[in-house]
Amino acid sequence: MGSKALQKYLTENLNDLKSKGLYNEINILQGANGPIIKIDGKELINLSSNNYLGLATNERLINACIEATKKYGAGAGAVRTINGTLDIHRELEEKIAEFKHTEAAIAFQSGFNCNAGAISAVMSKKDAILSDALNHASIIDGCRLSGAKIIRYEHNDMEDLRKQAKAAKESGLYEKIMVISDGVFSMDGDVVDLPGMVKVAEEFDLITYIDDAHGSGVMGNGAGTVKHFGLSDKIDFQIGTLSKAIGVVGGYVAGSKDLIDWLKVRARPFLFSTSLTPGAAAAAMESFNIMSESTELVDKVWENGKYLKAELKKLGFNIGHSETPITPCIIGDEKLTQEFSKRLYEEGVYAKSIVFPTVPLGTGRVRNMPTAAHTKEMLDDAIAIYTKVGKELGVIK
Ligand SMILES: *Cc1c(COP(=O)(O)O)cnc(C)c1O
Repeated sequence: MGSKALQKYLTENLNDLKSKGLYNEINILQGANGPIIKIDGKELINLSSNNYLGLATNERLINACIEATKKYGAGAGAVRTINGTLDIHRELEEKIAEFKHTEAAIAFQSGFNCNAGAISAVMSKKDAILSDALNHASIIDGCRLSGAKIIRYEHNDMEDLRKQAKAAKESGLYEKIMVISDGVFSMDGDVVDLPGMVKVAEEFDLITYIDDAHGSGVMGNGAGTVKHFGLSDKIDFQIGTLSKAIGVVGGYVAGSKDLIDWLKVRARPFLFSTSLTPGAAAAAMESFNIMSESTELVDKVWENGKYLKAELKKLGFNIGHSETPITPCIIGDEKLTQEFSKRLYEEGVYAKSIVFPTVPLGTGRVRNMPTAAHTKEMLDDAIAIYTKVGKELGVIK
């Protein structure tokens, strides 16, 4: 039964990963992904979700989701371009455009789908894309789908970007050249040098594309990294996700009316994949309402991030050079990093280890994502556990 060649391939490769200790066993949550989670009946302080503002479990979002589901049903029934565009999808897009200070916006089913659809809607094999060396996997895939020449530049290095942009321009080989970058880099929590990038883009007429998955809801009072730098009118594509700080699922592109009109006829996930569920669209809209009313949650995630960073640094941990609430704790050695994360888990903290090849060899880390939903007591408990495990494993004195 079934293909023998497939079975051979799967058995060999699964065994290989397992023997190297690289097979990721997935943890299963018994309940919501809030500040405290339950796994195998054990309660843990959760420092690994992207639910930055704690909105995933917010009452207002839950009620908006229920009401929309009652009114419109569980599913949207079709792709956007047939008859799967509901009035709440339009309202959500108008809300996003208003919040991002752009003419228009288009919603997708995920942030991943935005990159899979938006890049290839505009770029082709006649073009070139300058891509930051540490860009997210979905950006890399989106660039590949377009067929454009991909030119990597050193991470957040605007000198190198300028050099590569100049060479690409002067080669005369390309019709259009795009520069593409994460707004906030999720492994280190560092932020793109946007003023530097805009200068290079203006000099060489580059199309600018910022994927702000980790910046929206966190930077610029929630409006994102582009707003943080006051450069909303200089960036052609602002990508965001509805799945991280916004707390639901989905993604969006914000930009000019012409760009959004074009994506509606050319972005393939918009044309060939069923639209966001009514419940998700309504819940995401409620998130934007909450962020528009007050900066309380955004202020809180920053306050918690600063507190956690300061305390871990005081203890002697290497917390890298994060400029956002993302708090890496760099251990170095890969095995020690995994052991550290495992011991944290046993003591009651859920913080995932991230090692090579996701980050460079010798920079293994445990990454902490404090959220607005964490109380000071939860953070203090986590810090006490960090102290105990850090001393036990000789990471701190
Ligand atoms: C998480 C992430 C995505 C994917 O977003 P989803 O909505 O989860 O699909 C895309 N780009 C970047 C930079 C991300 O960090």
